[in-house]
Amino acid sequence: MKIVVSKCLLGENCRYAGDNCKSEKVLSLAAEHELIGVCPEQLGGLSTPRDPSERVGDKVLSSKGKDVTAEYYRGAELALAIAKDKGASVAILKAKSPSCGKGLIYDGTFSGNKIPGNGVTAELFAANGIEVLTEDEI
Ligand code: SF4
Repeated sequence: MKIVVSKCLLGENCRYAGDNCKSEKVLSLAAEHELIGVCPEQLGGLSTPRDPSERVGDKVLSSKGKDVTAEYYRGAELALAIAKDKGASVAILKAKSPSCGKGLIYDGTFSGNKIPGNGVTAELFAANGIEVLTEDEI
């Protein structure tokens, strides 16, 4: 099976802080599946490291108040194009991220509080028939 995976889960230093959140559990899937790494925030043109951002309503704002909504949506569209091009019908995306999170995301106050919601990419994937799981669900 072809599975799109958040690159930071594969050990890529693409998180806003320039680090990763490598998951051995996710990496072990490579024994039986083709893992296709994507980082929507980098695909959207954001640099690494970068200021952290959170969803605030329909927008995505950085901790310094910069509107990065366009970059987030561009990255989501490009990640979806990769998933479609590769024929992937399942994605394992990093929990709670404003791009990749599914079901629960940070609340836009940069205080660590979480609210029900999805990241921009997770939302677009689901709307296009790609099953989204977090690393906590596999
Ligand atoms: S956008 Fe997704 S893949 Fe990129 S660092 Fe954030 S959680 Fe990881």
